[in-house]
Amino acid sequence: MSRPGIESGLDLLSNDTRFDILRALARQRFEEGGVAHMTFTELFESVETGDSGNFNYHLNRLIDRLVRKEGEHYRLTYGGVQLFSWLQAATYAPGYEYDVIHLEQSCPFCDKELTATYEEGHMDIGCEDHWLLGAYVHPTWIESLPVDDLIHQVSLMLQNDIELIANGICPLCSGSLERFLQTDEEEYPNLYHYPCSQCGAEPRLRPPQTALHDVRVEEFYRERGVELHETAPWQLYDTFHSSRVISEDPPHVECEIVVDGDAAFVTVDGLGSIVSYDEA
Ligand SMILES: [Zn+2]
Ligand SMILES: [Zn+2]
Repeated sequence: MSRPGIESGLDLLSNDTRFDILRALARQRFEEGGVAHMTFTELFESVETGDSGNFNYHLNRLIDRLVRKEGEHYRLTYGGVQLFSWLQAATYAPGYEYDVIHLEQSCPFCDKELTATYEEGHMDIGCEDHWLLGAYVHPTWIESLPVDDLIHQVSLMLQNDIELIANGICPLCSGSLERFLQTDEEEYPNLYHYPCSQCGAEPRLRPPQTALHDVRVEEFYRERGVELHETAPWQLYDTFHSSRVISEDPPHVECEIVVDGDAAFVTVDGLGSIVSYDEA
């Protein structure tokens, strides 16, 4: 796993003057609101150093990495904003765990109740024994949203994540995903894995999930009263029936989707493309 940016990134943050510059810009952006940039004088005055040579040197080291200079103004780069946004999300503890949320649906594998639970910034959907889906959820959502809105937003985010993953884009870091097919897991006999070479995440998708944005599949669901973009991803698990490997290399899987007693047979390549489509 190569992570070329970690050392140089940590090095940028390891100096007191650079740290103070970033803190001043981040405070202004995240805590004060309004205009999110500072002049050289404002920035110099907010950093505790009497040494302008030292200040200049460290400011220049940040330019085009975490700080952008525009005319007379300095602001965080897009990457700098992302960094502080995630730092805030990762370290902010709401002080309580969300109670278990009951989803009024049974587990597709064992009929126990499906619930959503929140721990360490992660929302997981599943029953006592089976994990279905999960996503990082910003802690401010937990604090500010009523349960129904929270579940709705998690649903939208998971729909979005599934589409990104099927298109080979990491939902965590936007890096490129590889793809391989795992055929020996207990609950999911055929599962696509998508390792990210940039952040080390390895999201997984069930074969039919990779085809949910195909117009034929959307139409198949729609004709039976299911609008995919309005349906939570975990509510679709009951419609995913048998699947079998058609080809190992490239990894193609034929899966059966059943809605209202009608079946569609869809062969997918795991990259959001359908190899063949038939309705029974
Ligand atoms: Zn279960
Ligand atoms: Zn990644």
